[in-house]
This record gives sequence, structure tokens and C-alpha cells, in this order.
Amino acid sequence: MATIKIERDKCKGCVLCVDVCPYGLICQEKAINDQGYQYVVLEDPDGRCTGCTLCAVVCPDICIEVFK
Ligand code: SF4
Ligand code: SF4
Repeated sequence: MATIKIERDKCKGCVLCVDVCPYGLICQEKAINDQGYQYVVLEDPDGRCTGCTLCAVVCPDICIEVFK
């Protein structure tokens, strides 16, 4: 099983990762981080993340680490 870790306070809320995940597992929160951006979180209760790395590759701020 794979998963990702998102560095909340580095995230700029651009949602590129939200759009690129094939399973729609990344969601934007209403709350803001230390930088004042609405950060994103992984919502994967069923363990569907495949570790494809698309989200990590697309993130311009290198906030996402993938674990396989
Ligand atoms: S690694 Fe792939 S499947 Fe997992 S959250 Fe990122 S884009 Fe989605
Ligand atoms: S691509 Fe990076 S900066 Fe943009 S919302 Fe996703 S984690 Fe945040």
C-alpha cells in the first residue's frame, strides 16, 4: 500500500495536485496554513493511493513525498 505526506505549511493551495490525482484523493481544506493558503490533504480512507507520484511531480513547491 502506498501513501503520500503533504507538508501543510509549504502548500500554496494551487490545487494542481488535486486535479492530477487519478483517484481524486487530494482535497483542499477550508482552513488556512501558516502562509495564509488553503492547504490540501490526502483523503484516502480505502487505501486507493497507488504511489504513482503524479501529485509529487506536479507540485511546484515540492510539498509532497510519496511512500510505497
Ligand atoms: S501518488 Fe498518485 S494516487 Fe497517490 S495521491 Fe498522488 S496522484 Fe493520487
Ligand atoms: S500542488 Fe503543491 S502547492 Fe499546489 S496544492 Fe498541491 S501540495 Fe499545495
